[in-house]
Amino acid sequence: MARRERQPGSSWLSELLFEHKVGGQFDKFRIEPERSAATTSSATRGDLVGAFVGQEPPKTLAAYRQLLSELFDAKRDLVVRHLQAQPVFKVARAEWNPRQTGTNANIARELVPYVVNAMQAAYEFSAPPIEFSPAAGFLGTYDIKHHKITLTPQLFGKPLKEFLDTLVHEEVHAFQADMMLMLNVQRKGRVLSPAERAIAQYWKNEEPKYRSALAAGSSMSPETRRRYQMIGQEYHAWTTGHFVATKVLEG
Ligand SMILES: [Zn+2]
Repeated sequence: MARRERQPGSSWLSELLFEHKVGGQFDKFRIEPERSAATTSSATRGDLVGAFVGQEPPKTLAAYRQLLSELFDAKRDLVVRHLQAQPVFKVARAEWNPRQTGTNANIARELVPYVVNAMQAAYEFSAPPIEFSPAAGFLGTYDIKHHKITLTPQLFGKPLKEFLDTLVHEEVHAFQADMMLMLNVQRKGRVLSPAERAIAQYWKNEEPKYRSALAAGSSMSPETRRRYQMIGQEYHAWTTGHFVATKVLEG
């Protein structure tokens, strides 16, 4: 397990996945997502009324996973199709070599905007800026307070699949946070469907589980880690990251 102080600026959604200290051999860089129309649709009166038609949050894990599948499998597929159509991923697969971290850093800079745009378009949310920073100490984090994804440059020394998996994983967390913010219908932006509200409420209800899993700072027992990965948002992020990375890089 990592042995790092809990970082005051990081949120309860930050992740504890990375074991080693990160060297400072890479410059920090930051990628701003393009602003698209995806986040600007406005609600009609009819939508607002619809948003209040109740659907209870799922009561069981099976019901949660079923709803997850109904709501997001098509979006996940859309991301895969979009990325499979980009020649840059074929090039990246050929060029990426875990022993050539400098080259991989350049490849990563090229890939990230494609992934961010595909996620943003499919999931209709406001994707955060992405920073590569050795300060993270984790493979990746999503900081809900500052709406920012941080990826560790140490990913450049890992297989391409792990890099893509981590990026998509953190994008899913950013999307989840957006959905939970939209539970407040006073907010401008898209109005959630009853099913979306139900799943966002399920996530929100689980926030205490995150806090309790992270209470020990950055050292998790295997049991805590297992519970952590069973939290609804984690399950969603893990399965989506794995699915997209596998599909995009296998073809
Ligand atoms: Zn996660």
